[in-house]
Amino acid sequence: MESKKIIAVFDVDGTLTPARKAMEQNMVETIEKVKEAGISVAVVSGSDYKKIAEQIGEDFINQMEHSFFENGCVYLQSGKEHTSTSIRDELGEEKIKKIVNFVLRYVADLDIPIKRGTFVEYRTGLLNVSPIGRNCSYDERTDFFEYDKEQKIRPAMVEAMKEEFKDFNLTFSIGGQISIDVFPNGWDKRFCLKYLTDHYDEIHFFGDRTEKGGNDHEIYEDERTIGHSVTDPEDCIKQLTELFLK
Ligand SMILES: [Mg+2]
Repeated sequence: MESKKIIAVFDVDGTLTPARKAMEQNMVETIEKVKEAGISVAVVSGSDYKKIAEQIGEDFINQMEHSFFENGCVYLQSGKEHTSTSIRDELGEEKIKKIVNFVLRYVADLDIPIKRGTFVEYRTGLLNVSPIGRNCSYDERTDFFEYDKEQKIRPAMVEAMKEEFKDFNLTFSIGGQISIDVFPNGWDKRFCLKYLTDHYDEIHFFGDRTEKGGNDHEIYEDERTIGHSVTDPEDCIKQLTELFLK
């Protein structure tokens, strides 16, 4: 009788690693044991390869059958690029141009204390839009974040874009301190599941931001996964041990 094929899919920041930091040795050892128990392992992150490689290491990525960056728009098998899906392929240049033009006009008419540069950043799977501009300094970023809480600059911008692009089938997500992510509906972490569902009988997902509005929420709630909400890497180790290593 063939045994069940099980995979554990992990968020990175706050789940495998402390926020923005490197993975700790006890997690490396736990993942090793999970693999020895016959369970496949994968990661899915909204961040790009470079950022995640700094946190979990290229060797770790190479040793995983699947790793998904930018929510799966960049998909690596055993550390080698397998599939890349871009927002350009999905929307086409005309629609991208319309969004960029709208954003630049909107920002031009916006009266906020300071503006810097890079108001739109084009990434593989999304457009990242920022009223202050991405190349502001750390202090300027913090100031904008406080200002935005009171003045609701980003929520107003989201409403304006929703109205303007209501036929484009897009999600507008306020993330971090200064920007808004714009991506096709469904291109959150669930995007990676289409590469896994045919190959595994059980897909376990572990993430720390599983609450509504959190970036793990959709995949955690998805009926194709068994969701596990963790508070931090320590808790993740505890749950993994409980589930797979007893
Ligand atoms: Mg996280």
